[in-house]
Formats: sequence, structure tokens, C-alpha cells
Amino acid sequence: MKRRGRYSAFALVREAMRGHTGWQKAWESPLPSRKYDVVIIGAGGHGLATAYFLGKNHQVRNVAVLEKGWLGGGNTGRNTTIIRSNYLQDASAAIYEKARQLYESMSQDLNYNVMFSPRGVMMLAQTHHEARGYQRINNANIVQGVSTEYISPDQVRKLCPIISIDGPRYPVLGALWQSRGGTARHDAVAWAYARACSQMGMHIVEQCEVNAIRTRNGRVVGVDTGKGSIDCDKLAIVVAGHSGVAAEMAGFRLPIESVALQALVSEPIKPCLDIVVMANTVHGYISQSDKGELVIGGGADQYNNYSQRGSFHNVEETVRALVETFPIISRLQMLRQWGGIVDMTGDRSPIISKTPVEHVYINCGWGTGGFKSIPGSGWAMAELVASDQPGILAAPFGLERFGEGRFIDESVAAGVAH
Ligand SMILES: Cc1cc2nc3c(=O)[nH]c(=O)nc-3n(C[C@H](O)[C@H](O)[C@H](O)COP(=O)(O)OP(=O)(O)OC[C@H]3O[C@@H](n4cnc5c(N)ncnc54)[C@H](O)[C@@H]3O)c2cc1C
Repeated sequence: MKRRGRYSAFALVREAMRGHTGWQKAWESPLPSRKYDVVIIGAGGHGLATAYFLGKNHQVRNVAVLEKGWLGGGNTGRNTTIIRSNYLQDASAAIYEKARQLYESMSQDLNYNVMFSPRGVMMLAQTHHEARGYQRINNANIVQGVSTEYISPDQVRKLCPIISIDGPRYPVLGALWQSRGGTARHDAVAWAYARACSQMGMHIVEQCEVNAIRTRNGRVVGVDTGKGSIDCDKLAIVVAGHSGVAAEMAGFRLPIESVALQALVSEPIKPCLDIVVMANTVHGYISQSDKGELVIGGGADQYNNYSQRGSFHNVEETVRALVETFPIISRLQMLRQWGGIVDMTGDRSPIISKTPVEHVYINCGWGTGGFKSIPGSGWAMAELVASDQPGILAAPFGLERFGEGRFIDESVAAGVAH
């Protein structure tokens, strides 16, 4: 195992004294080897977390993570970073709560500050239907051991004074509140896992697109990439919005649609919002970054596509919705907008599964809400890849559920988007 210096206050002082000449690269950029035990396609959070837990939990370290662009340049670096675990179904609560718990200690575990900020996530109920839905989730969460609360409009006002409680169109009737939900720095999550994987001797190869998946007698033998052919015993496909494309390379189809989901940030302003608020009826969600920008999540495009751009109509709809709920933001200027390609299943739940090709595994379908699940998903996927069997977290999320009609319906708890 390669040893890198630990990040610490002592290291900072030492480097300050010697003109910052002693820092090592956070991860190596090797050329790919001819063969690996496991190849993972996609260096987003889920692919990197899978590699990390393969090494940490299962001692599988002859691993390559192949990325066609740059590390974390997919949805992992494009999302609005909301972390919560208040889902409806038991299977979802288990994996999202496992992930949330792993986020609590991620900075210490990986020796990398991922800026996890459990500032609290509030999901506003603005119709009676929504209020009943959130009360139902709250009841389910109590049974599941997930700490959430259904709170009154007065409590909403106390937690977030800038919300317009009374309307105009949709008064706030209550909210589902998860006090240990929050945010983390998205790039840092990818960088932290990459550094830890590199430290275990794994290869993270950027600018290395997989163009073909090679099989023999129904079993994977390798991949062809822009940097040559690579053999492998096992292959994990973890490419979010490109899952359909990768599955086609391996010769099977997925029940997935790819659409662009958009987000935007405002100019920076003084601190005014110290929690995350999701207003699903009017369709928008908002938090304030450490730099002071309001981070605003918009909607998904209404048609399937592979675009990573924002669009004006989406900004207009999202901002109009949010101004109703937060009138004080009406004069803010918006700075940037962008999109990411999200992979949507019909039941709004992920797929962590074996596939029709032996030793090819797939992790996808996290759609609009998979940043929060990165550590839990990596944990579950690593177990599946290492043992060729899903463990307790992954078992409900197999591909076979679509054939059996055994959906894990999260269309309400998945909310507007996250
Ligand atoms: C605007 C927006 C806001 C969001 N907000 C939230 C939120 O607040 N909270 C939340 O929990 N989730 C949110 N999400 C969802 C979340 O970002 C994703 O579910 C999650 O990041 C998916 O991670 P991933 O590692 O699976 O995919 P990605 O990060 O997309 O990584 C997949 C990687 O695979 C690579 N790849 C694809 N094809 C190939 C190939 N052939 N060869 C090699 N590499 C390939 C891609 O380049 C990419 O880097 C949001 C998403 C978007 C777009």
C-alpha cells in the first residue's frame, strides 16, 4: 500500500514553513495495466466509493476505475448536495440511512474534509395531500429508526424566518424535518475517495472512455478503451446517465430513462438561510453555500436527452416558484446554471444488481437523488462485486424486480427531485 502524508493541522504548519513544497499529488494518474481483478466504469462518487469499499471491506485492491472525462465531472460534481434519508420504503430507508451515517464520519475515515454539514433538511408541506404524505413518511421513519419529525408552521417559521408561511398560493401547512440531514462538498467527496483508492494502490484512469465490453461464453473478459484493451475478471458499470449506453455495449437493456436535471446559483449574499429547504409543490429547493451563493435546484427536462446544459425556461419556472416561498430573494441575480444527465427508473429507486452477463454488475437509477447515497451505495455494490451475491442492503434493488412487478415505489419520498 502506498503511503501518503496525512492531512492535519501539523502538516499544514509544516508545509507553510517550507513554502508548500512537500505536498504530494492527491491521487496518481497511471496508464492502465493490461489486466485487473475488477474494472469499474465511471469515476463519479458511486464508482469511486465502490472501489474504496472493495479495498477496505473486502481486500480487493487490484482495481481500476476508468473515467471518460475528469474525476467527479458527471452528476457528482453537478448536484445540489442535499443529504437526507427520510424515504418511505424500508429498503430505501436502510440504504440511505446507512449512507447518511457514513457521511457523519467520512472526513475522519478518509482523512479529507468533505465539509459534511448536518444543518437540517426541511421538506415543506404546501397542500393537504402533501401534508398527509409527509406524515405517512414520518410514521414509516419512526418504525425504521430514521430520525425525522413532522413539524408545525410555527416551528417552520422559527427554523427559517425568511419563508412566507401564508402564501400567496400555497400556505405552509407543516414540514417533514430531518435535523441530521444537510449537505457536503460534492467535489471533495469524489476527491476524498479517489485519494483513498490511490493510496490502496488502485488505478484511477481519467480521459479513458470505455467503447466496448468484451464477453466470452456469456461472461465478461474485458473492455476496450481509448487507452487500449484491458482484461478483467469482473466489471462494474457505474455511469449514471450513460447506463443505457453501457448496458447496450454488454448486450442487455435497462428500464432506465436519461434526462437532464438542472440547477443554478445566485450571486453571493450575507448568510440568510442555515438549513436546506425543499418546496416540492411549487417545485424548487434551496440552500446557502459557504461562499454565500444560494444553491437552487430546478426541474428535470420534460424529454429524454443527454444534454448537460441549463435552459432559460427552467430557470424562470424554478425562480418564480421560489420567489413565492422566499419573497426576499426576488431581487437576486443568478450567476450560473447547468445540467446533469440523471438516470430515472419507473419506481424512482436505484438498481444495484447482477446482470444477464456473468460477472458484470450494474449500479444506476439513482436519478435525481444519488449524491446522498454515495457511501451506502458503494458499500452495497462492493459487497455484490466481491461476493457475486447482493448483501442485505442491495438485495431489494435487483433488476429482477421490474420483471416481477415488485417495485420499491419512492415517487413521493423522492419528491421534486431529491
Ligand atoms: C442538477 C442536479 C442536482 C442534483 N441534486 C442532488 C441532491 O441535492 N442530492 C442528491 O442526493 N442527489 C442529487 N443529484 C443526483 C446525484 O448527483 C447523482 O445521483 C449522483 O451524483 C450519481 O453519481 P454517479 O457516481 O452514479 O454518477 P456520475 O457522477 O455521473 O458519474 C458517472 C461517471 O461515468 C462516466 N462515464 C460515463 N460513460 C462512460 C464510459 N463509457 N467510459 C468511462 N466513463 C464513463 C461519466 O463521465 C461520469 O463521470 C443531482 C443531480 C443533478 C444533475
